[in-house]
Amino acid sequence: SKVPTITLNNGVEMPQLGFGVWQVADDEAERAVATALEAGYRSIDTAAIYGNEEGTGRAIAASGLAREDVFVTTKLWNGDQGYDATLRAFDTSLEKLGLDYVDLYLIHWPLPRRGTFVDSYKAFEKLQADGRARAIGVSNFLPEHLEQLIGETSVVPAVNQIELHPHLQQEAARAFHAERGIATEAWSPLGQGKGLLEVPAIVAVARKHGRTPAQIVLRWHLQLGNVVIPKSVTPSRIEENIDVFGFSLDDEDLAAISALNEDRRLGPDPATFDVV
Ligand code: NAD
Repeated sequence: SKVPTITLNNGVEMPQLGFGVWQVADDEAERAVATALEAGYRSIDTAAIYGNEEGTGRAIAASGLAREDVFVTTKLWNGDQGYDATLRAFDTSLEKLGLDYVDLYLIHWPLPRRGTFVDSYKAFEKLQADGRARAIGVSNFLPEHLEQLIGETSVVPAVNQIELHPHLQQEAARAFHAERGIATEAWSPLGQGKGLLEVPAIVAVARKHGRTPAQIVLRWHLQLGNVVIPKSVTPSRIEENIDVFGFSLDDEDLAAISALNEDRRLGPDPATFDVV
């Protein structure tokens, strides 16, 4: 079944479900992305820091799919923030991907103490104006960072990609994004597959629908309106994670999962994360 798209604030269509490749080595990423494209995924989420833009690009090239049928996201790494450094880093990413444009380019982290995200984003605006990034956005930005960015630049980010799963539901951020026309993209949508997929409430909903816990959690995201990018290198799970368009959760199921919020992060706090 085909993945629906959402319309970003500049009119670009983005698949609501894509494939993430964090912590996947370059060769393995090439195999996993090939498997994902074969399984029907049409959106791939990589980043310069993942070290697998080349393998990702090779898999896309080998797929035989038309360029316009694949939505490719990559991200600017922290050490490359600043106007000129951003333009150079973007060239390197494009070259590694073997592409002449990306569909979405994201600032990976805000690094608020460094104070360089506005300059970096001004370079993003140029990349978009030049047709080399169809959409531009950010990742791990808190509402206060978005406020500053929107106040000091002219293109409202199309997307904010943030950590979001049933244990960290990000209600305030989601409401803020909705108000500003920014799409919410969930990273670690499955909570990295750790304890989340064994939580009794999720297992119960899975039994009720004859589906897996991962499918239930992905459905919860989709019905909330989030973009999701689950990661797996296991072919059966890659297929399972896209097979989520033939059923839906009812209000009771959604409420049972929404009751699991613990405001608990798996990743770093964007207010202080500073690694370059
Ligand atoms: P995820 O929530 O997608 O979980 C992936 C893990 O869950 C797998 O490694 C596997 O152990 C397990 N899993 C996957 N499918 C399963 C299934 N069907 N059944 C059981 N277990 C399953 O975690 P993630 O990789 O951290 O996040 C997804 C993507 O988000 C990343 O690959 C990356 O593209 C992106 N991401 C972005 C940032 C950022 O700072 N912007 C940070 C982390 C991740």
